Amino acid sequence: MTRLRVADAVRLSIVGCTAVVLATWASHSAPFQIATAADPVSGAAPMPADPTPPGSTPSPTQPSGDPSAEVNPALAGRVADEDLPKTNAEWRKRLSPEQFEVARKKGTERAFTGKYWDTTTPGTYRCICCGEPLFKSNEKFQSGCGWPSFSSPIDGVKGETVAEHEDVSHFMRRTEVTCRRCGAHLGHVFNDGPPPTGLRYCINSASIVLDKK
Ligand SMILES: [Zn+2]
Repeated sequence: MTRLRVADAVRLSIVGCTAVVLATWASHSAPFQIATAADPVSGAAPMPADPTPPGSTPSPTQPSGDPSAEVNPALAGRVADEDLPKTNAEWRKRLSPEQFEVARKKGTERAFTGKYWDTTTPGTYRCICCGEPLFKSNEKFQSGCGWPSFSSPIDGVKGETVAEHEDVSHFMRRTEVTCRRCGAHLGHVFNDGPPPTGLRYCINSASIVLDKK
């Protein structure tokens, strides 16, 4: 071994190449390893302290392409009283144009076009404006009318969550239903529903959001 090392030293002086010397030295020094920046076992480069590239954090989805639009907090849950908008201008920032037109301006989405008209997913439907729970999936039924239909509000026909108003617009006499808490227009209630209530709460998808179970 000594003779080999001497030979190596000579070789160093002749060749003058550090890489060759290190490789030769390593081949004769099996118990030792050359420390490098790379992982000594796998050869992989060390991991950076934070592997997440900047700007990759997911951001909440905006309701529209309007840069002044806000994220609607009702999508996440019941909105606190002090956080509820007071004006239509404020509502417009939180809602999509269709949601605003239906829920705040008493519009009606076209039949068979809404998000929930044929949904059977279990869960609770909340107000798109204030997040209040309004209807449950186990009282939703297929009415064939093209809108989500419920036989009862979440707290019963005589409950407190949904308010009723006489509506004589469009040359019809109907009963409008609104969210009692925030006044959002939901739809209408008709007396052609299934037992036990005999009622059909015909609700716009644009006025509600489903919390899946
Ligand atoms: Zn509401």
